[in-house]
Amino acid sequence: MTDQNSNEGFGFSTRAIHVGQDPEAITGAVTVPVFQTSTFAQEAVGKHSGYEYARTGNPTRTALETAFASLEGAAFGVQFASGLAAEDAILRQLEPGDHVVLGNDAYGGTFRLISKVFGKAGITYSANDFNDLDTVAANWNPATKIVWAETPTNPLLNIVDIEALAALTHDKGAMLVVDNTFATPYLQQPLRHGADAVVHSTTKYLGGHSDVVGGFIATNDSELETHLRFINNAVGAVPGPWDCYLTLRGAKTLAVRMDRHNSNAAAVVEMLSRHKAVSSVLYPGLESHPNHAIAARQMSGFGGMVSFRAAGGRDAAMKIIESAKLFTLAESLGAVESLIEHPGVMTHASAAGSALEVPDDLVRLSVGIEDIDDILADLDQMLGQ
Ligand SMILES: *Cc1c(COP(=O)(O)O)cnc(C)c1O
Repeated sequence: MTDQNSNEGFGFSTRAIHVGQDPEAITGAVTVPVFQTSTFAQEAVGKHSGYEYARTGNPTRTALETAFASLEGAAFGVQFASGLAAEDAILRQLEPGDHVVLGNDAYGGTFRLISKVFGKAGITYSANDFNDLDTVAANWNPATKIVWAETPTNPLLNIVDIEALAALTHDKGAMLVVDNTFATPYLQQPLRHGADAVVHSTTKYLGGHSDVVGGFIATNDSELETHLRFINNAVGAVPGPWDCYLTLRGAKTLAVRMDRHNSNAAAVVEMLSRHKAVSSVLYPGLESHPNHAIAARQMSGFGGMVSFRAAGGRDAAMKIIESAKLFTLAESLGAVESLIEHPGVMTHASAAGSALEVPDDLVRLSVGIEDIDDILADLDQMLGQ
């Protein structure tokens, strides 16, 4: 089942388990092997099996790329050493003087990469409210080459209408990149809504077990794929074969994990919404969420990320977080275990003082797939502190 295009008839889980993952040709090994090698023997000068040096390509990586491209409904997929290495490769299309239109609520590391690294290379950016596209259009900088959106956003769980943003972006002659890390291809496939490229931190839900860092890009644009493969090889931020193996292994269970993340998060949201220690709950599955209708249209579930604001302010938020027992106090998200963090001080500290700064009473939960009663009991004791 290596040709993903012949697999259109298969469902999501079948593709996650089989596409790009035929039994190995020589031994029949059912699981894609870890090809732990840096180089590949050539039959004659320049005559090789498709692999020559492992920075350029490795069969374990190819299996992952083929499977993940299929999950996003994409013609092409390229895996990187981290989500940020993947983002860097997309942004390297830019030249001095070019402009990036960014959402005003984005992963802190994306903001840092665009502002501090690409800023030095002469690239400018602006932070925009993607829920107000009339203003985005009115303030359009003609040097814009890339529009960069996340949906749902991290950590405020805002929703961006991908189709509407893609229409505006294309009308202006730019490229739309959507960071799909929070939703995963199981819940949302941005290319189907008009995005030009989808980026993932596979460190999160795709890997799903907090044991490996990685990044992935899906696209239907062959020119972009050529650029990405060139950067992947020329710069060398490539994942090792073990990382690819672990990530691919994790993604085989993505659908069943996401179903549980969805239902556990819904129960957590229900509980938080009625708690007096919570002033507001941020979750696209709530009917009171300002873009619930868009989320319901472009997603098939609302995911495992939940943020809330502590009624008692910053100190109360800190007390809640520090009294967690089952929830682990840690950065990152999207794995089997429940995590809790304070975005203002932890994941989003680099956005302090900018348009992307987050409220200091904000608590972010990555709701895991443990038994829901245990999750709710821990939240209950935290909020009672
Ligand atoms: C973690 C994350 C990234 C960065 O990915 P790394 O694998 O940590 O480099 C990018 N976007 C989002 C939404 C993330 O959560």
